[in-house]
Amino acid sequence: MTDDVLVQSPEIEAAVADASKRAAFALESCRGVGYRDRWRALTGAVAAGGDAEGLGPVTREVAALEGVGRAGAGAGLTYALTSQRFGVQAPLRSILTPGQWRALGDVEGGAALLCHALTEEGGGSDPLSMATRAEPLDDGGYVLTGRKAYVTAAPVADTALVFARTSEGGHPFVLTPFLVDLSAPGVSRSEPFAKTALVEVPMGALDFDRVRLGPRTLVGREGAGLAVLNATTAWERALLPAYALGPMRRVLDRTVEWARTRRHFGRRMGESHLVAARVADMALALMRSRRLVYAMAARLDAGESPAAVGVEAALTKISVAEDHQAFTRWAAMLGGVRSFVEESGLTADLATPMAASVYAGPDDLLRVSVARGLGLPVEN
Ligand SMILES: Cc1cc2nc3c(=O)[nH]c(=O)nc-3n(C[C@H](O)[C@H](O)[C@H](O)COP(=O)(O)OP(=O)(O)OC[C@H]3O[C@@H](n4cnc5c(N)ncnc54)[C@H](O)[C@@H]3O)c2cc1C
Repeated sequence: MTDDVLVQSPEIEAAVADASKRAAFALESCRGVGYRDRWRALTGAVAAGGDAEGLGPVTREVAALEGVGRAGAGAGLTYALTSQRFGVQAPLRSILTPGQWRALGDVEGGAALLCHALTEEGGGSDPLSMATRAEPLDDGGYVLTGRKAYVTAAPVADTALVFARTSEGGHPFVLTPFLVDLSAPGVSRSEPFAKTALVEVPMGALDFDRVRLGPRTLVGREGAGLAVLNATTAWERALLPAYALGPMRRVLDRTVEWARTRRHFGRRMGESHLVAARVADMALALMRSRRLVYAMAARLDAGESPAAVGVEAALTKISVAEDHQAFTRWAAMLGGVRSFVEESGLTADLATPMAASVYAGPDDLLRVSVARGLGLPVEN
């Protein structure tokens, strides 16, 4: 496909292409190695972007992550990099004390890995119902007990941001966030869950059996759980959809090539107006998704806080998820049976875009918040 159809800006396209080259090299050099090594190589490829001219730091990073996806890193790995960067590191960087941030190790270089442990087996969208609890000690520390589940990167991470109940009831200050060293006594982790979406990144459970937490593991102050959660989810909703842009472009390019060359009914498939319209709809879905994600990045680069763009971030997350779902459905139809056969080169991953309507706040709950913000008397 000619590159000029979907140009965001020449600077962004140059940054995406540049990152894509670095990521392709990194992927080639780490064939057959384990998750952590691939993670580190790709983190290096994203970080090596330097200062792409005329772009703010958030936009530059979104472009780099789009480039990683375009290089073929796989949706799961690209999602993991994006979620680590924008869903955990960026909010924590502004919340932690310098000493706490340093103690995490080289997270930006990919040598240390974080995870975000909120959800429990009983559910994720109602955090105030969580059972994991932290009991205060006289020395300012806590004892943590409970189980978190469905946590991205839990089987491989070094440190978890864990949300626990520190008081009873359902008021907004019952939850407190902690930084938990996952090699500490009393912490155990599950084997990776066999999952169907975003398969390249492991997901699992964390068990805390009377884990002793020092005073410096507290993030913010006691009761800051919902405030910290609002920060991590605002960043995630605004920018996590960036992970989808590279994989969508690869699917669009290969679908165009397929429709141009595949022959049936005595003609090339792309001569059908209905096929052409599906391809145009795919381009529209990708264009809209890019516009929305890069608009979020531009606002954050301009100094707006993630909380200030909260409504637009929620709408961006919903829109990209739904466009990605429809886009993948059209690609699957056009690929025919090959969409469901490994090795065909046209496999359609329908589960991954669907998962985006669930994580970082289920889309229907976000719709409720948006409508409430518009003035409807509706509560979750
Ligand atoms: C790929 C992936 C990665 C994830 N990574 C992490 C992670 O790193 N850390 C972590 O803590 N969690 C993670 N999660 C879990 C995620 O945060 C939860 O799935 C999410 O919060 C929803 O919780 P639930 O699945 O228990 O859904 P439930 O709370 O059971 O809700 C199920 C569905 O019910 C509907 N629903 C429920 N209540 C309402 C309502 N009031 N209004 C309208 N509709 C409603 C919605 O459609 C919702 O999707 C991940 C999930 C996925 C899919």
